Amino acid sequence: MSFSTLGLSNEIIRAVTERGYTKPTPIQMQAIPAVLSGGDVLAGAQTGTGKTASFTLPLLHRLSSDKSVKTTSNGCSPIRALILTPTRELAAQVEESVISYGKYLKLNSMVMFGGVSISQQKRRLNSRVDILVATPGRLLDHVQQGTVNLSQIEVLVLDEADRMLDMGFIRDIRRILSLLPKQRQNLLFFATFSEKIKELAAGLLNHPTLIEVARRNVTADTVLQKVYKVDRDRKHQLLAHLIRQNNWEQVLVFTRTKYGADRLVKQLADDRIPALAIHGNKSQSARTHALAKFKNGGVRVLVATDIASRGLDINELPHVVNFNLPNVAEDYVHRIGRTGRAGASGEAVSLVCADESQLLADIEKLIERRLPFEVVAGFEANFPSQAEAIPDGRKHRPKSKGDKPPARSTAKPLPQTSVKQSTPRTVTSGKKSSSSSGTSRRWAKGDR
Ligand code: AMP
Repeated sequence: MSFSTLGLSNEIIRAVTERGYTKPTPIQMQAIPAVLSGGDVLAGAQTGTGKTASFTLPLLHRLSSDKSVKTTSNGCSPIRALILTPTRELAAQVEESVISYGKYLKLNSMVMFGGVSISQQKRRLNSRVDILVATPGRLLDHVQQGTVNLSQIEVLVLDEADRMLDMGFIRDIRRILSLLPKQRQNLLFFATFSEKIKELAAGLLNHPTLIEVARRNVTADTVLQKVYKVDRDRKHQLLAHLIRQNNWEQVLVFTRTKYGADRLVKQLADDRIPALAIHGNKSQSARTHALAKFKNGGVRVLVATDIASRGLDINELPHVVNFNLPNVAEDYVHRIGRTGRAGASGEAVSLVCADESQLLADIEKLIERRLPFEVVAGFEANFPSQAEAIPDGRKHRPKSKGDKPPARSTAKPLPQTSVKQSTPRTVTSGKKSSSSSGTSRRWAKGDR
């Protein structure tokens, strides 16, 4: 299938072709026709699947093909599409996509988020904005000040809606929904389905098409995952050693806290390894600067917290390091999804100290595989993992012949063929689907 068979205009196809896309990804194949048909969509797809283009392309098509002149009550041209995202970085990235895919169209977009001057945004709102990409908080600031008019929104997109709910934006979202016209198209994208998403979808969507692509296979052949057991206070030394020894030139490192991220940047600097941090306490310009410098090779290491990393799109990132394991096992999936994208090979390394062994067990349970340990001479730490210490912790592992666990102390990763793939969920029924490219169907009211 090609983009031209999906019903998109020539201007849009020209723009995606220039970006080097030759064929649509599975989420695009399903979402583009569904959005073009004008109905609501509920789509489960993670970052890295091409989800942004899956709603941006048909949105651009829809807005550009309607040539009727529209005005607000005070004679201005109205904002016609609203895309809400959980983070500033994601908002900026989505708007970049809107600009890039819409470069041959006469549509104007604007990105709006907190942490930067509001007056500049107010000035921008005085001129034409067809597509507004915003984070909920700053959008509501504008609503309060009467500087934004949402009364003529034709299409609403909630991108990474699950993350918005996790971040406590539900009240803000409800408030924003109350300001939109009743008649509109709603597109709700999420990475992980939950009761909260189901509830939001039930109240928001009208007979949506349900689209789901295979959950990004966290144990994809292209991502090599390893664990190093190490004492907590030797982690930064081990990290510096791995970076130098393996000549890693571009490494994204995750820490659990903002303080931990800043401290690690200093420790790496002491080791003459240039690093920058990206987290919620950094100003927007500092974050943008750090990301740009990391992308263009000006800094070797980018240290990030989970929230700040959402939506970071760094192509072909070769190395991801979990300096601390995340408290929530799903975040491990998001983190390592930053590497091994689009078929490129990548490596995800976790530095695990004694008090993180339960977190490791939780991750292994979620991804349904055990992660191989590696040892670096001089950095050995001897403690049993949770799964080894507590016999019950093995429950999740698929039984091998004679019910013997595979050896863990090997320095070699498990063969990729033994990887159990995570199975895509069929959201409404809770049944598992075996399709690898996903499913699409109308979501009947009775499913809710
Ligand atoms: P997303 O899931 O929207 O974050 O997209 C992940 C990456 O895939 C981005 O770098 C996109 O530019 C890229 N991408 C999106 N669609 C395609 C496509 N059809 N072919 C190749 N790359 C794509």
